[in-house]
Amino acid sequence: MSAADPPCIFCRIVAGTLPSTQVYADDHVIAIQDLNPQAPVHVLVLPRQHVVGIASEEAEDGALLSHLVSVANRIARERQIADGGYRLVINQGANGGQTVAHLHLHVLGGRRMQWPPG
Ligand code: 5GP
Ligand code: ZN
Repeated sequence: MSAADPPCIFCRIVAGTLPSTQVYADDHVIAIQDLNPQAPVHVLVLPRQHVVGIASEEAEDGALLSHLVSVANRIARERQIADGGYRLVINQGANGGQTVAHLHLHVLGGRRMQWPPG
């Protein structure tokens, strides 16, 4: 990490200073393969802008949220999990299981999900 690198790992991925396997990118969001996949398909969709989590004021921007969901749905179709079903997850804060403080939407699929989640 150089002196100019942002401290947030997802901001570093957005900036390209931390490598990732990118599966989608546009002016507002990128989508990457999760480093530690929990399902055959496990992609993270995140805003380029640093937003801490879904509880942040910036996350109440309806345009940003609908874009995150729309990209997630598009990835599900491209990865052929749309017909069988899939799960979109946003973890918020410690009790929500959030480990990276940069908003991201998990796209999980390719196996039968369980309920309730752990
Ligand atoms: P959270 O627990 O915050 O909802 O999800 C964070 C996700 O980011 C986890 O699924 C974890 O595997 C993933 N992750 C953590 N560090 C990295 C990384 O450096 N690169 C990628 N691609 N995924 C990461
Ligand atoms: Zn960030």
